[in-house]
Amino acid sequence: MGIKEPVTVTVTGAGGQIGYALLFRIASGAMFGPATPVRLRLLEIPAGLKSAEGTALELQDCAFSNLDSVEVTGNAERAFDGTNVALLVGARPRGPGMERGDLLAANGAIFGPQGAAINVGAADDVRVLVVGNPANTNALIAAAHAPDVPAERFTAMTRLDHNRALGLLAGTLDVGVASIGNVIIWGNHSATQVPDISHAILTGADGSQRPLPDALAEALGGTDKVAAWLEGTFIPRVAGRGAEIIEVRGSSSAASAAAAAIDHVHDWVLGTSGSWTSAAVLSDGSYGVPRGLVSSFPVHSRNGAWEIQQGLSVAADVRARIDSSLKELEAERDMVKSLGLI
Ligand code: NDP
Repeated sequence: MGIKEPVTVTVTGAGGQIGYALLFRIASGAMFGPATPVRLRLLEIPAGLKSAEGTALELQDCAFSNLDSVEVTGNAERAFDGTNVALLVGARPRGPGMERGDLLAANGAIFGPQGAAINVGAADDVRVLVVGNPANTNALIAAAHAPDVPAERFTAMTRLDHNRALGLLAGTLDVGVASIGNVIIWGNHSATQVPDISHAILTGADGSQRPLPDALAEALGGTDKVAAWLEGTFIPRVAGRGAEIIEVRGSSSAASAAAAAIDHVHDWVLGTSGSWTSAAVLSDGSYGVPRGLVSSFPVHSRNGAWEIQQGLSVAADVRARIDSSLKELEAERDMVKSLGLI
């Protein structure tokens, strides 16, 4: 196979913790495979530029064979010029006394102009992943400022929640994560997210498959124990894992967030080959999710595009949780609308 054209990847907030965990893996080929050269653009605000420049020096020192170039800039138009993949990581964290409206307004001032810069200069095939929180609504804001880019190219990350669910299930069942399939995260990337195992399957060493809830019932000592475990342990633990990491590690998750961003883009570009995963994508009305919201769904990727997995039954308790997460997403959307951000 000949050398491919470089893929241009823009990372915002590149001088931050997630940026530091993300850039080396992209440069090493984890996102598109080792045969695809990457051209990195690192965008930062003035306070973060030195840190991003330091990261760029280290990237150079790694001598990654498929790293075509690294450029650090404080200029969004430059950063997104010709970009194929935009990873919007930098965001305004919630400060003391900050209300949700303040947070959304502060992030609107970041994601609006970034959407506009993507609209002006990004490559025709640009794909955008928003990591910076509130990720779903930030994606909505960016998309609204990029009218010439198909809105479905703006996505938000729930892959970390998905991976956290896989890790917790694998630990509980004492199996490898690769043997677990069809876990779903629905809704908002927030405390209201809905981890759902109703369709999950477990593949045995001999290739046989069975419903994962059955395996859980066995491991936990009865079907009645599963519902209590889901309600009391699984769902709160997955949704609260970010806080748990902060408590144990002393700072927020960075490497796992970076790994999930790599997984998201890798699968989006290269496909999911028969399996499904979770991503927050533009709703087309599937599963009663209001059209136009960026919400997490079970998705697979084919020909470089996410498609929502159709036709799944949704249990009543899962439905109630999804509806409450959707209420939160709608409230965020209404607030950014009233602030004139979309
Ligand atoms: P991180 O790199 O740790 O986090 C960046 C963003 O990712 C935050 O909004 C954070 O949200 C979010 N995030 C999403 N999922 C996760 C997760 N699972 N775990 C942790 N974070 C998650 O923040 P740093 O402060 O280290 O770095 C941010 C950088 O962004 C700074 O260098 C800053 O200068 C820069 N920045 C750049 C901008 C730009 O390029 N225009 C704009 C704004 C900031 P949460 O806060 O909810 O944890």
